[in-house]
Amino acid sequence: MHTRNNWTISEIENIYHTPLLELIYKAAIIHREYNNTGQVQVCTLLSIKTGGCPEDCSYCPQAARYNTGVDVQALMKKEEVLEYAARAKEAGSTRFCMGAAWREVRDNKDFDRVLEMVKGVNEMGLEVCCTLGMLTEEQAKRLGDAGLYAYNHNLDTSSDYYSEIIHTRTYDDRLQTLDNVRKAGVTVCCGGIIGLGETHIDRIKMLHSLATMAEHPESVPINALVPIEGTPLAKNTKVDTWDMIRMIATARILMPNRRCVLWQVPILFLQEINY
Ligand code: SF4
Repeated sequence: MHTRNNWTISEIENIYHTPLLELIYKAAIIHREYNNTGQVQVCTLLSIKTGGCPEDCSYCPQAARYNTGVDVQALMKKEEVLEYAARAKEAGSTRFCMGAAWREVRDNKDFDRVLEMVKGVNEMGLEVCCTLGMLTEEQAKRLGDAGLYAYNHNLDTSSDYYSEIIHTRTYDDRLQTLDNVRKAGVTVCCGGIIGLGETHIDRIKMLHSLATMAEHPESVPINALVPIEGTPLAKNTKVDTWDMIRMIATARILMPNRRCVLWQVPILFLQEINY
């Protein structure tokens, strides 16, 4: 079935501001047209290198500059990661995502180890996903050759609001990495976080950036901020459940055959569910 990537901001505004029950109803109809309603995908996400990150994402307890009590942990050993992956598979996950608190991937022994992890998890018959920060096209290709199925790199918020949340990189840096991932033939997992202090129009604009990509991201994680003591956003108000539902329903209508992923900002080891 045909999907669109020429949405305008005003079209998205109209969808987003539809009365909630009507919006849920429309999203459910569209969901049924494109997806098997009796199916969800369970994914497990593991932090393979935790804390000590040089970036300053205002929501993140892993940024070295915030005093959040997160224990810095060096890159895990391959064998240990494969054990976690085996447990995840046993528990019913079909996708295993490995996250490292890096600004960007460097061509060094740590990256070689991650490539080995990707190869190992792929050989276990799981879809492998990584989130490692910025990436060149060459590095994306190496990950793809090792068996990487998806790369997660979120836009976080609208391009207008981005500089309020992160000062150590730009929106364009994000888009460049996403482009490199696409060129390497790896699928894209890309979404954002609500509850960062953004307005409704920022949320709409973020959805617009995602839904007007030449190819929609295969997975669209919609996160709600978990305010963490020590980060600049520690005092933000908890996101209302209905706001999350509104975002997910709008994303479903805009990108009907993609996986809308509901998760929360990860710290160490969690499972997420893809609808
Ligand atoms: S979100 Fe990622 S890049 Fe930003 S500070 Fe946390 S670990 Fe670093």
